Amino acid sequence: MEYNMTGTTKVWSVEQTQTGIQEAAAVLAVGGVIAFPTETVYGLGGDARNTEAVERIFAAKGRPSDNPLIVHLADREEVYVLVEQVNEVEEMLMEAFWPGPLTLVLPVRAGAVSELVTAGLDTVAVRVPAHEIARALIQQSGCPLAAPSANRSGRPSPTQAKHVVEDLDGRIDGILDGGATGVGLESTVVRVLAGEVHILRPGGITREQLQQAVGSSRVALVRTPEKKDNKEQVQVPRSPGVKYTHYAPKGEMLLITGKQEKLKVIVQEKADEAKKRGCRVAILSCSEHISSYQADEVFDCGPYNVPHQAAHSLYALLRECDERGVEFIVAEGYSEDGIGAALMNRLRKAAGGHEITIE
Ligand code: AMP
Ligand code: MG
Repeated sequence: MEYNMTGTTKVWSVEQTQTGIQEAAAVLAVGGVIAFPTETVYGLGGDARNTEAVERIFAAKGRPSDNPLIVHLADREEVYVLVEQVNEVEEMLMEAFWPGPLTLVLPVRAGAVSELVTAGLDTVAVRVPAHEIARALIQQSGCPLAAPSANRSGRPSPTQAKHVVEDLDGRIDGILDGGATGVGLESTVVRVLAGEVHILRPGGITREQLQQAVGSSRVALVRTPEKKDNKEQVQVPRSPGVKYTHYAPKGEMLLITGKQEKLKVIVQEKADEAKKRGCRVAILSCSEHISSYQADEVFDCGPYNVPHQAAHSLYALLRECDERGVEFIVAEGYSEDGIGAALMNRLRKAAGGHEITIE
């Protein structure tokens, strides 16, 4: 297939998946860029070895060039083509979680991928996605796919094909619609140094799961620079992307965490204050509290003890707030156990640090 940049974006519906994968794979093979579903969020893929394709990804997203991309592979064996070496702990993690939402940062083999993918670092981030469409697409294209989330930079990541259309229609070659994604948050990014697993970005694989897989090895969350209590033993290079305010809705957002009883009162109080200032207000609530609240929009994020439901729907709800012209969002916090850690990380980013903790 001839590749030409026509400025139109082809969308393959769920019913057209098989032909869609074939056509999209052919576009990728000649340097095009395609959005596709993964089990985390929709990715925007291009041949990681082709600098022009990678440039198109950065341009379509408006992504800063110092934020490196994750390379998606169809099979674990392909990782050895891209990286210098894989240690014992990394092998254990691949064995336990691939295919799946875990990204490993590994020493890159010189010249294996475009320097734009790694943003000039001596490491490359890789994962094998679990979504069937993603793996078939990678396999048929014959390319390792550099694929960040398929949103405009700074917008919530897309969890449905329509979100990709909203952000990137006319800027990319095609979109494979595979329905809503499962996890709804991005992959967990880890780096193993001196036998210790450092979580650079919390995500779909939880700290508890990582700990179970690596037994006696230490698993630690690398704290963001603004937190002063960083007691990491090993100096870990941070993930360049974590310094950016991602996942931001258009309106202002306030996160309220802490004791459940008082929390309801404060949430309603803050919503009322914003209303008095003339804002259109939304509350993101757990199912248990939903009937107590009054606001322009009250969204049910699922039961407090089922954080993966909130994770699954968070980005779609943030986009819905934008669509409905919401100017102020009050969001309830969830427990930080399991996927709750990644959920709270994204809620904090969306709130830009505005948080009230109730003692
Ligand atoms: P996204 O593609 O939007 O899901 O973001 C990818 C994340 O992986 C960002 O936070 C990047 O900074 C991080 N990342 C990608 N490559 C590397 C690398 N070589 N070292 C550290 N972090 C990386
Ligand atoms: Mg992203």
